[in-house]
Amino acid sequence: MKKAAVEISETELNQRLARTGLRPTPQRQHVYEVLREKKNHPTAEEVFIRAKKGMPEISMATVYNCLDALVSCGLVRQVDQGRAATRYCSNMQAHHHFYCDECGGAYDIDLLPNAPKPYVPIPRGFQPARYEITIRGLCPDCANARRK
Ligand SMILES: [Zn+2]
Ligand SMILES: [Zn+2]
Repeated sequence: MKKAAVEISETELNQRLARTGLRPTPQRQHVYEVLREKKNHPTAEEVFIRAKKGMPEISMATVYNCLDALVSCGLVRQVDQGRAATRYCSNMQAHHHFYCDECGGAYDIDLLPNAPKPYVPIPRGFQPARYEITIRGLCPDCANARRK
């Protein structure tokens, strides 16, 4: 599997947007920075709160528009957890997610570098392109709190 560039420069972000037919805007730039700053899978609401700190005039609608743009150009991916609000992940390297049942947190779980594929038995005829395994349980903090 090819490793994605970990840090993406400003020009690269703009090129990616342009390739997808999207205009680079200071808002898109800012929202992307917000996501890269703290990679804890924030919801759109949380991105909005953080984005407002550096750009007080930004609206919720603009944040949604920026997130959509970043998802369509492949710099950010959506993490869906059933009924919970969609979260946004800016780690574009192949990874899985661990969801905490207690606090609702989403954590990145790296792939084992040499894990045998397929990780799960794939029925005949299916052609897997990506693997995204969901693991649920307790994060270290919640597991500790429960032990007390
Ligand atoms: Zn937790
Ligand atoms: Zn992630």
